Parts: sequence; C-alpha cells; structure tokens
Amino acid sequence: MKATCILCDRTDELDRREFKTKQLRNKPIRMYICKECDHRVAIHTMERINSGKFKFNKPFNKPLSVLKREILERESN
Ligand SMILES: [Zn+2]
Repeated sequence: MKATCILCDRTDELDRREFKTKQLRNKPIRMYICKECDHRVAIHTMERINSGKFKFNKPFNKPLSVLKREILERESN
C-alpha cells in the first residue's frame, strides 16, 4: 500500500503487516506522516517544551507524593 506524507508529499510504500498501515487502510481519512517528518516534528516539539515558552493547556497530573505534600502543607498553615 502506498501513502503520501501530508507534510512533504513524499510517497512511501508501507509494510502491509504493520499496525499503522492497517489503521490507515481501514480509515482512509487518517493522515500519514513519514518517518522523517515525524522525527522532525518530535524534535521541534521537544525544543519548544524546553524553551519555556510552551504552555500545556491541559493540566498535567501531579504524582501522588507531590499532592500529599501539598495537602499536608496547606493543613499545617
Ligand atoms: Zn514527510
């Protein structure tokens, strides 16, 4: 099966046994991003997160130990 990358318009021959290929075949609307673009985007995202200018809109879950400490601090005040 052939798929075209939405970012660089490169056409790849996909391994039909791979799970991603099966997903793509079952739902043709699903977009395909080639490995190079995927890697490039991942690196840019990591850079942005580390730049400090990037904010997550979703609040991330704190580990239980941190929550426990915060509650204890609040109760002691
Ligand atoms: Zn690409």
